[in-house]
Amino acid sequence: MLKQLLFLTVSAGCLALTSCSKKELADSDTPQPGVRNNTDPHLCTALYAKVEGDSSKRTTAFGERSTFWMASENIRVKFMNGDPTLQNRVKAVANEWMQHANVHFSYVTASEDSDIRIAFKWNNDGGSWSYVGKGCRQIAQASPTMNFGWFDASTSDEEIRRVTLHEFGHAVGLGHEHQNPTGGIQWNRPVVYDFYARTQGWSPQQVDLQVLNLASSNTTNFTSFDPASIMLYSFPASLTTNGFSTPSNTVLSSTDKTFIGQTYPFSSTRDCLYEGQLLNVDESLVSSNGRYRLLLQADGNLVIYNGSNRGIWNSGTWGKNIRKAIMQADGNFVLYDNNSVSRFSTNTWNPVGSYMMMQPDGNLVIYQRGQARWSSNTWNQRTTAKK
Ligand SMILES: [Zn+2]
Repeated sequence: MLKQLLFLTVSAGCLALTSCSKKELADSDTPQPGVRNNTDPHLCTALYAKVEGDSSKRTTAFGERSTFWMASENIRVKFMNGDPTLQNRVKAVANEWMQHANVHFSYVTASEDSDIRIAFKWNNDGGSWSYVGKGCRQIAQASPTMNFGWFDASTSDEEIRRVTLHEFGHAVGLGHEHQNPTGGIQWNRPVVYDFYARTQGWSPQQVDLQVLNLASSNTTNFTSFDPASIMLYSFPASLTTNGFSTPSNTVLSSTDKTFIGQTYPFSSTRDCLYEGQLLNVDESLVSSNGRYRLLLQADGNLVIYNGSNRGIWNSGTWGKNIRKAIMQADGNFVLYDNNSVSRFSTNTWNPVGSYMMMQPDGNLVIYQRGQARWSSNTWNQRTTAKK
């Protein structure tokens, strides 16, 4: 799969996944209103950067690893419009990326500056797209960096998931899988040009940019072609010379997860769980001084161990088949069993800026907006102390 960072000298664009968008990719560094075409699967269109002062240099869509964010970087996100219920549906899906990579989306209020700005049907734009990676930071605060052109209250959960995961894939620096430098798709090029002209209104140049051009292997990180990637367009067999087609992928593939985890690796001794991140069985948080460890054990108990490897706190969930400990986007920290039933929670709902830290003083604390909201009350216990 191709995970790449588009370089945006000025603005970069991304793609909308559903069929609909007819997007002017030309020399505007803001998206143009799209036109829905209801006869085709929704496609994401990539908006490419306009090079300062010379749009003729906008010749390549892919390329710069420099658009990756820093691992663990705090990426500020906000919504520019939209119904709160719809916003929360998008947010819950977007945060899936944080479970597999050390990226951290921190949602801020409408009045605060942000790195990623999400809009719904911005200026009646019917396309879905996103700028790529940290190129988002080159976009004016008054403009969105991501648009969802066809989401409303009636949109299915599967469609919300498919498009949101894809657009946030761009936002964390990924390109379209069908433009993987390794190629692999035997396009019937005349048919491809005709297909996208009819269904999306794209010019041959736009088809080249969105579909046919392969990213440079010199400037991108990539794996072998991954037909299950969330970053792949769905297209019919009529577009290829060998009958190859792709389904409409709606979940992150195993390669998506592995690749993004390699791109943004977790520290071997991470001490925090941010919103959307989780501990699986046998995973742990370790305090920055290495003295305290929070471990989700195979027996279902979540335990804080001190430097003498003695348990100083536990969740009391031994034997309850706990499989995941999640710092949820709603601010609540929850242990779920193998039937996805909640068996423990901190009751700390607060949808903005929550994280859990295994502190060097031995206390496990949930912070929200910088304020301690919950703790294990295990601070400054001597490592040899009895309970
Ligand atoms: Zn796309």
